[in-house]
Amino acid sequence: MEIITDCVSPHVREVREGHMQLVWREPVKAQERARVVAWSCHCRSTVYELCCVGGQAYIRRTEYDDGGGERACETYRWAYKKAVEVWSALLRGQAV
Ligand SMILES: [Zn+2]
Repeated sequence: MEIITDCVSPHVREVREGHMQLVWREPVKAQERARVVAWSCHCRSTVYELCCVGGQAYIRRTEYDDGGGERACETYRWAYKKAVEVWSALLRGQAV
């Protein structure tokens, strides 16, 4: 039987033992516009986005609640290459 879903983006896996703990901060009020280059599936109440700005990158986490509210926080900025490493660790459940 074929399972059909609307999901095209990756889901963040259950967090694993020995994962790295990321620092989640209040979003920086930035004038510059970040470009979202990757994102996790929007079917979950928590959505992660890999954002690029000025040669650096960071991960933004947005939690949506049932009342239509949302709460965003983000990591520190890293060099793009480092951010991609953290991003893939996050998707594999190796960072939270
Ligand atoms: Zn999904």
